[in-house]
Amino acid sequence: MQTILDFNLEELKAITKSLNEQTYRAKQLFEGLHSGKSLEEITNLSKAFKEKLLASYSNFPAQIYKKLESKDGTKKYVFKFLDGNIVEGVLMKYKYGYTLCVSTQVGCRMNCSFCASGLNGLIRNLSCGEILSEVLLVNRDLGGSVKDRKITNIVLMGSGEPLDNYNAVIDFLRLISSPDSLNISPRNISLSTCGLVDKIDKLARENLPITLTISLHSPNGQIREKLMPVARAYKYDEVIKSAKRYFDKTGRRVVYEYALIAGVNDSLKNAEELAKNLKGDYSFHVNIIPLNEVKERGLKSSKNAYTFKNALEKLGISTTVRRTMGEDIEGACGQLRNKILKDENI
Ligand code: SAH
Repeated sequence: MQTILDFNLEELKAITKSLNEQTYRAKQLFEGLHSGKSLEEITNLSKAFKEKLLASYSNFPAQIYKKLESKDGTKKYVFKFLDGNIVEGVLMKYKYGYTLCVSTQVGCRMNCSFCASGLNGLIRNLSCGEILSEVLLVNRDLGGSVKDRKITNIVLMGSGEPLDNYNAVIDFLRLISSPDSLNISPRNISLSTCGLVDKIDKLARENLPITLTISLHSPNGQIREKLMPVARAYKYDEVIKSAKRYFDKTGRRVVYEYALIAGVNDSLKNAEELAKNLKGDYSFHVNIIPLNEVKERGLKSSKNAYTFKNALEKLGISTTVRRTMGEDIEGACGQLRNKILKDENI
């Protein structure tokens, strides 16, 4: 059953009309839902209308199940969906506002060798409304509503591969950036992908100027194929070519993520090879991520982050080292979910 949050305003108007309610009710419904409320909490709609809706659609699809706050102010949310599945989101406060990191799938099928999300494979895709509910619930938790936006930026960097759940993710991006909803500019949204080339090309044609972030993590194809099984299907050079095409089509600077792993991809030689392979006539940036160690994966974080950054910068590449946030609250994607599943024997 589709949830009532899976629809845009036009669709809700059609539904409202088909249930013999006046169209302005659709706007009230939309505003209530996009303020993070379930049907029971939307007080300006009749009980009869809500009952008619619930006969065909399920209610607001999630609730905040747990909230942890790190010493550095980062908050981790666990959302529970109507079928009992849980996913994580992370809220980070910056000078300019709040950034929320959302999940797009329960689990992940990519099985990257450093990541906690793929340890148990893919459980299921999230629907557009379920992804949306993560943002709306946190916006409400911060005291916001549809007319009072607290969240300014979104990153699709939680559990799951967003481009492996393409249609729901595109619907979500269109909805959250619409003036009817939170009106978050696509320029303030980043989508991170392990590099599904055909979907990157498709995304470039959507006319959604979001930032494309590619999880590269390697200076060459050989190392990438060891770290990320998906790299066997989509070759290193092809991934970089698709990033260039994305830039050509959208004019948006592409970001490469590079998790620094001790003894695997963190030498000066690796930095030089990376620089050589990335170079080209397009705008890009490298974001070095200190590896968040996942016990089950056995890989170790490198201590060379700043040496690596300096080496890349010397070669003319714009580079940053990402601040680590929320390390004391199982910050890496999927870590907290796995811990809850274990502790609560779900
Ligand atoms: N599937 C998408 C988005 C999810 S992960 C992707 O692959 O990009 C968001 C980022 O965190 C990705 O760059 C991912 O490779 C990285 N990541 C996953 N596990 C990590 C870990 N243990 N330490 C550091 N970064 C990690």
